[in-house]
Amino acid sequence: MGELTAPIMSVNQLSKQFGPGCDQCRNAEHRKLEKNYCRACGTVYSCQNISFDLHRGEILGVVGESGSGKSTLMRCLYFDQEVTSGEAYLQQYKEGSSNMFAESPQQKRYIRNHLMGKVYQNPVLGLRMGFSSIGNIAEKMIAAGNRNVAAMEARGSELLERVHIPLYRMKDAPKLFSGGMQQRVQIAKALSNNPPILLLDEVTTGLDLSVQANVLDLIKHLQRELNISILLVSHDLGVIRMLADRTMVMLDGQVVEQGLTDQILEDPQHAYTQQLVHSLL
Ligand code: ADP
Ligand code: MG
Repeated sequence: MGELTAPIMSVNQLSKQFGPGCDQCRNAEHRKLEKNYCRACGTVYSCQNISFDLHRGEILGVVGESGSGKSTLMRCLYFDQEVTSGEAYLQQYKEGSSNMFAESPQQKRYIRNHLMGKVYQNPVLGLRMGFSSIGNIAEKMIAAGNRNVAAMEARGSELLERVHIPLYRMKDAPKLFSGGMQQRVQIAKALSNNPPILLLDEVTTGLDLSVQANVLDLIKHLQRELNISILLVSHDLGVIRMLADRTMVMLDGQVVEQGLTDQILEDPQHAYTQQLVHSLL
């Protein structure tokens, strides 16, 4: 998998904490936490020194139980939230020479609008439920500087077709759609500016199994067609197994294991991963 070329995204020691920390927990090596929580001061260590590379055209799975820090990681990468510390470099941004977290708000907006697309577990966070679906897509294109209405309409309908929303419904608001359709509109919106990176946070969680399978199938096809790099978050190892080339396993804000998905499934090293894999059988 693209190992010979530079990674599309390289994340180095990303940390996110909620709370100031205290003498008991400030030192990462010696901190004693209750899962991710410091009993002494109430600080939550949601992501602790997370490092990984995302390669061109790969799907990197992030799996872990609820509260392990997966969404926090995604929010930090999409600038929904500020990191406490750490670095991330994008190959398509200043040729990977600049830590994106240290950039100005304006540059962060550029990165978010041109180089990334995100799909939220909760569609309310990713869509304006009362706007038309095609208007939702146009919004991201406008944010990236597009002004040509006809071109945006053409691109919007092409994308909706791609995610199998019938064109006669493109003016309908997402609030009128089923959960699966709302996720499809989010995917279309995320793809609108042809980003090299797609961030998918529990895209299929809560959907009926058959709908879930359809959306996963769509993601797989889009990834192959577009050769896009995807960070795929799920608490469900079954979803990860279906799509991810490589996987990292998170527990209490830390990456406890990462490697080829097949290898992790066959020979899990960490006790938590072993438990996850066994519950899948
Ligand atoms: P996941 O997506 O893996 O379920 P999250 O990233 O949503 O996990 O949450 C990781 C941890 O961070 C949880 O313990 C959660 O309670 C905590 N957390 C998330 N947001 C905040 C916040 N704004 N303030 C305090 N703690 C938070
Ligand atoms: Mg989450």
